[in-house]
Amino acid sequence: MRILLIGPPGAGKGTQAVRLAAHLSIQHISTGDLFREHIGQGTDLGQNAHTHIHAGLLVPDEVTIGMINERLARPDTERGFLLDGFPRNCVQARALDGILADSDSKLDAVLDLEIPEDQVVGRISGRRLCRQNHEHIFHVDHSPPEVAGVCDLCGGGLYQREDDREATVRQRLEVYRTETAPVVGHYRAQGVATTIPAHGQVQDVLNRALDAIGRGQADAAGTSS
Ligand code: ADP
Repeated sequence: MRILLIGPPGAGKGTQAVRLAAHLSIQHISTGDLFREHIGQGTDLGQNAHTHIHAGLLVPDEVTIGMINERLARPDTERGFLLDGFPRNCVQARALDGILADSDSKLDAVLDLEIPEDQVVGRISGRRLCRQNHEHIFHVDHSPPEVAGVCDLCGGGLYQREDDREATVRQRLEVYRTETAPVVGHYRAQGVATTIPAHGQVQDVLNRALDAIGRGQADAAGTSS
């Protein structure tokens, strides 16, 4: 299966992406995580990306598209993938159309996570990530770790992303409105987009997403039907 997850910052894309990819046994590919890996390793790409991410802006298309092109060419995506954070504007969407056409493949679903804007800042400002594994995501109020500041899953230290500060979040929301929201229209025209209400419990949102792609319900662990 090939799935895209679209939604404003704070909609829970990362949280849902990890669970959906595990449930469907497909690769989870997050452009945000790929950039953060590059930044952590101090590569040229990472240094370039950091300036834009820090300002709440999109990383330039040629950098992002090149990185995704290379990632989708790896054999571990043959069974499918769940793209989280790409495409984020219509240029990227057309580039993805081209990449898929070249490999004679197509998208099965585009899930558009919808969340009222007034919930976004609270969700993001309380978000904490694990230093050892960015897929381990907590929230100080909604899903707190058992020990403050420590990952329940691996014991790694938790931290707040620097672009999760309020001023940067507002800029990211503006970029979402002007550049990313039109991408949903691009996929509506292709007949593959479904809007998923992203409020409520993680498990409920996951079940709505699975329903939308006709893949049943998840158990309490979120990993099997
Ligand atoms: P969120 O979904 O919470 O906004 P991500 O981790 O997906 O966060 O992305 C963090 C930042 O990385 C974005 O604000 C942007 O600067 C950059 N980024 C991620 N994906 C893309 C993309 N497809 N194109 C350009 N920049 C991107």
